[in-house]
This record gives sequence, C-alpha cells and structure tokens, in this order.
Amino acid sequence: MLKDIKSLYLSELEKLLADEGYPKFRAGQVSLWLKKGVTSFDEMGNIPKDLRGYLKRSCYISVANIEKKLISMYDGTVKYLFRLSDGECVESVVMKYIHGYSICVSTQAGCKMGCSFCATGRGGFARNLTPSEILSQIETAQKDLNIRISNVVLMGMGEPLDNFDNVVRFLKIVSSEESLNIGLRHITLSTCGIVPKIYELADLKMPVTLSVSLHAPDNETRSKTMPINRKYPVEQLIKACIYYFNTTKRRVSFEYAMIEDVNDSAENAKALANLLSVMPCHVNLIPVNSVKGTLYRKSSVKRQKAFVEILEKRGITATVRRTLGSDINASCGQLRGKHKEEGGK
Ligand code: SAH
Ligand code: SF4
Repeated sequence: MLKDIKSLYLSELEKLLADEGYPKFRAGQVSLWLKKGVTSFDEMGNIPKDLRGYLKRSCYISVANIEKKLISMYDGTVKYLFRLSDGECVESVVMKYIHGYSICVSTQAGCKMGCSFCATGRGGFARNLTPSEILSQIETAQKDLNIRISNVVLMGMGEPLDNFDNVVRFLKIVSSEESLNIGLRHITLSTCGIVPKIYELADLKMPVTLSVSLHAPDNETRSKTMPINRKYPVEQLIKACIYYFNTTKRRVSFEYAMIEDVNDSAENAKALANLLSVMPCHVNLIPVNSVKGTLYRKSSVKRQKAFVEILEKRGITATVRRTLGSDINASCGQLRGKHKEEGGK
C-alpha cells in the first residue's frame, strides 16, 4: 500500500528516507516541495532521480481538485466543492475578514451524527478524511485564489471529533513550520458534543478554540434535533466544556442555530443564560439555513434581537453571525447534496 506522504510528520519522512539510505536534508527538501503544493514527484527539481523513483513506488501525494467553485456576488465568499482521489466530494468555504482570510474545511465526507437541521447530516456518511486531505483543501484554495489563509475553522462537512486521530495529526502538521505554519490559536474546532473526545482533546493541551454546536439549552429540545444528545446529555457536555476551558485556558464558544418556534423563545434564552453562567464563553447565534427536506425556518429578526438582549442582560456575550455568502448556499453540505442529486458521487 502506498504511503500518504503529506500525512507524515517531518520526523517520519526523515526516518522513511533514512531507512533507504538518504540523508536527513532530503526529507526537508521534499517537504518544501509539498508545501509549495506540487502534485507529482516529478516536479521536485532538486531531488535526485533515484529518490524520486523510490518516492513514486512507495508514496502518493493526496489532492483536492476543484470540482465546482461559486463566488458570492455580495461579499466575495468563495465556496468550493473539492474532488478527492477516490472521487468523493467535500466542501470548503473561504471568507474574507478585516484581519485576513479564513477557511472552513471538511473533516469527513458526510457525517454519521444525523442532526435534523443539517444538510450534511441528512446526506449520510461516506468516509473519514485523511490529515493530508484536510490540508489539501487549504492548499488548493490558497493556490487558486493566490492568497495566504490565516484562520482555519473545522466547521465544514463532518464531525471532527469522530475522526479524532486524523484531525489531531492534521492540527499538528498544519501548525508546523515545515507545513503551512498556521498557529493553533488561529484554528477553531467545531463539535456536536462527543464528550469523551472533548476531554481527550483538552488533555493534548493544544491552544485550539473549541466551538460547541449547542442549539438548545435543555435535553428535551436538544434531543429532538441532535441525536448525539441522547448519548451525551447537556449537563455532561457543559462539564466537559468547563474542563476544556480549565485545561487549555481557551474560552469556549457555543453555536446556536435559531429555528423558529423550536429553540428561539424567551424561555429558551433564559435557560441558555443559566446553563452558560458557569463559565466564560461566547455565543454565536446563526439564523438557521433552511435545508431541503426540512420544515425549519429561521427566526425573525425581532426574535433574534430579543434573544440576544436576554443573554446580554444576564452577562452572556452573544453575536448574531453575519451570514456570508448567503447567495451561494455557503452552509456546508448543501452543494455536495445538490451535486449528488445531479448524478455526481
Ligand atoms: N460537526 C461539527 C462541525 C460541522 S457542522 C458540528 O456539528 O459542530 C458546522 C456548524 O454548522 C455547526 O455548528 C452546525 O450545527 C451548523 N449547521 C448545520 N446545519 C445548519 C443549518 N442548516 N443552519 C445553520 N447552521 C447549521
Ligand atoms: Fe454532523 Fe455537524 Fe451536521 Fe450534526 S451539524 S450532522 S454533527 S456536520
């Protein structure tokens, strides 16, 4: 079986080459080429032919090729549908902020978690992405747009903590100097709340921001839309978040998709404020994107404002997320769903 060269740490690549009798600096040269985004070993000009031959026989370079690209007319947000080596497709979104570019990447093709409001969840699960496939989404976007991306959010398709080992390896590689050198402090990992994995991540003490998709303040409401809540109820989830904060000293943020008449009442806001009063945190309110096959509608602006007001009165900071790329279905899972309907993989 061929080795996925972009998923190796530099030390592992060094060892691989050393075992074949090549000096250490060759691994550094190879990794420089990979950083430049080459897609074949033949492009590695200063690597001797015999080493290139060995690499071709033993390794492959993973890619994320652009299958579709949509650009928002309103704010320049770019949404990609990337095709991976085996034909699976995943989505990424590049957004421009005042301080630079941010990319939202996928960690799985599909998702097993089945949240009822989510296009990815409704589309089922295909497979985990490798560390290099998560990395390739960033590399391809940077190359295509000729930009340097400074922030990464693991908030595309899939549940990052359900692909834990590959995601952790990706985090270590992407933040290393020999790769894209994006600081862990500039990376946010979003989860639906796989409690044991939150503890495991905290114990790694990486300064990654944890973003928890809460979407409801109580078990009854949350279990209706998020099946994971039946396994790890709200109290356990909040306890894990407190542990994450205490261990990493990073403030946790909570995502709350506002769905009309489901989770947007004044009572819901009060319950949410009570629940979160135990820790420093930030709440991102997102008017839910309507997804084909669901009856969910976004909360009215009036409800959104009232909700924020209740939270702030009780000392919880909250913002209604600016919806970027609203004309290109920038919420993940929708483009892939459409592509599949049209006969794609
Ligand atoms: N699986 C992870 C990360 C990917 S989902 C998680 O659930 O956190 C990224 C974010 O988009 C999550 O906060 C998710 O709840 C939210 N989301 C999914 N479908 C949505 C929709 N229709 N409208 C608004 N937000 C949605
Ligand atoms: Fe999966 Fe996140 Fe969508 Fe839930 S919201 S189905 S966890 S991608």
